[in-house]
Amino acid sequence: MKDLSKALLVPPGSRIKLASIDPSDTCGYDKEAAAGHLEKNLDRLSVLQYLLYAEAARSVLVVLQGIDAGGKDGAIRDVMTGLNPQGVKVTSFKVPEGAEKRHDYLWRIHRALPEFGQLGIFNRSHYEDVLVVRVHNLVPKDVWSQRYDQINAFERMLAENGTRVVKFLLYIDKEEQARRFNQRIEDKTKNWKFSTADVKEREYWDDYIAAYQDMLRRCSTHHAPWYVIPANKKWFRNLALSQILRAELENMNLKFPKPTADLSGIHFE
Ligand code: AMP
Ligand code: MG
Repeated sequence: MKDLSKALLVPPGSRIKLASIDPSDTCGYDKEAAAGHLEKNLDRLSVLQYLLYAEAARSVLVVLQGIDAGGKDGAIRDVMTGLNPQGVKVTSFKVPEGAEKRHDYLWRIHRALPEFGQLGIFNRSHYEDVLVVRVHNLVPKDVWSQRYDQINAFERMLAENGTRVVKFLLYIDKEEQARRFNQRIEDKTKNWKFSTADVKEREYWDDYIAAYQDMLRRCSTHHAPWYVIPANKKWFRNLALSQILRAELENMNLKFPKPTADLSGIHFE
C-alpha cells in the first residue's frame, strides 16, 4: 500500500503549487481495492478512537478546509461513520456572529476544541481568517498577514499540551465544482445545498488558490501538518483521509490507562 501520509503531506517550509497537483490523482489506487482498504481503515479507526477515549489524556483535532462543494460534509459523513458519537465533536464554522464578532478570531476556535479523549472535527476553521477574510479584504492586510505566525503559535501550544492537530485541504478543480453545483440544482434532494453565494465565490477561484498556497507554505509544520487531498474522486478522498488519520492515531501510541484499583482477586458471584 502506498504511504499516503508521505505522498500527500505538505513538507514544512515547502512551496506547493496547487496547479502541479492533479485533483483526480488516485496515487495508483483503483476504486475496487480502495473499498477494501477503506473498510479496514474504518475498523481500525474505531479501535483507535476507543483507546483515545479510554486514555482520556490527549485529543485529536482534524481540520477540514476546501472550496465550496469540495466535499467537507461528505468526508465527515463517510470517514467518521464508524466512530462512537460520544467521543466525537464536530464543529462547523460559519460567518462570525454575535459574541464571535466581539472577540479575537481564535476565541471561538479555542472554545470548540475537543476535550481530552475526544476526536474533534472542524468543518472550516481558523484558516477562514486567512482565506475568505483575505480574499474579500474583510480586515486589512497588515492584520491578516500576521495571523499565519499567530496560528502556528496557537497550534504549537495545542501540540505541546496534548492536542494533535491534523489538517486536510480537500482539493477539487473548477470543472468538478461545476459538476457538483449542477447536481445540487438537478437533484431535488440536493437543492437545499445550493447557494447563490457559492456561485459568487467561484469567481474568486484564483484568489482562493493563492490564499491556499500561502496557508500551506506558512502553516504546514511538524507539530500540525497540512495534507492536500486530491478530492475529485470521492472514493479516493475517503481512502486518503481514513488512511492518514489512522496513521496519525497509530503514531500517538495510545494505551489503556492503568486500572484505578488492584483487580487481582476481585470477583463477583
Ligand atoms: P458553509 O460551509 O457552506 O456552511 O458556509 C459557511 C460560510 O461561512 C462560508 O462561506 C465561509 O467562508 C464563511 N465563513 C466561515 N468562517 C468565516 C470567517 N472567519 N469570516 C468570514 N466568513 C467565514
Ligand atoms: Mg457553502
